Amino acid sequence: MPTLHLLGTGAALAGASRTTTMLAFESESSVIVVDCGGDAVQRLLMAKVPLERIEALILTHEHPDHVSGFPLFMEKIWLAQRRRPLPVYGLKEALSQARRTFETFNTSGWKGMPEIQWREVERRGGAEVLEDEQWRITASPGEHSVPVIGIQVEDIGSGKAVAYSADTERSDAITRLARGADILVHEASGDFSGHTGIEDAARVAADAGARRLVLVHLPPEPSERELEAARSHIPAAEFGTDGGRYDF
Ligand SMILES: [Zn+2]
Ligand SMILES: [Zn+2]
Repeated sequence: MPTLHLLGTGAALAGASRTTTMLAFESESSVIVVDCGGDAVQRLLMAKVPLERIEALILTHEHPDHVSGFPLFMEKIWLAQRRRPLPVYGLKEALSQARRTFETFNTSGWKGMPEIQWREVERRGGAEVLEDEQWRITASPGEHSVPVIGIQVEDIGSGKAVAYSADTERSDAITRLARGADILVHEASGDFSGHTGIEDAARVAADAGARRLVLVHLPPEPSERELEAARSHIPAAEFGTDGGRYDF
């Protein structure tokens, strides 16, 4: 049974117990990491996720709280003796941001540094990200101040899926992406442009028929009162916490 790890659950500025929002999907043979605005490798180690199983990194968009840890991520997996290539998936804007960020460092002395394979994802509903014997991952664009994708990660063996909104306003495309998901991981930064409030995230989960809603990208003091209101749309709604894990 695969596991969703919440490596981080904060907005760009969050409370002391949360770093930036980053996820990992772990099976017995494969790990997919989503975003690296903070020190994703340290969080993977805390979660006891074997680094050698990392199959791919997905970048949802170009903002610093989602990509700025990329050079550190590469340095750490290289030091952990990874040698096989690392595929990195995302929209072209996110990939070029990660590439620029990485290229500000002189890595010419990093002998055996894994090759980075940039894999561009199309900006359209249901775009294929990757499919192998473990996962089927698709993406749909959300609505944010820059191009962004949410993703759906399906465990091929069980057919169960987790959807992740990434940074977005309440979005029909994300609702469609999340249809029937076992778990919807939705951002809940607040009711302002480019983001979603708690109750609207719950409406998306209810419209999509998701079984459980886990709220991430949380501000310093997420409102318990709003969470209570959200439960009238979907009873299984909760704030994600750093280090949280969910089998699906
Ligand atoms: Zn953003
Ligand atoms: Zn963000």
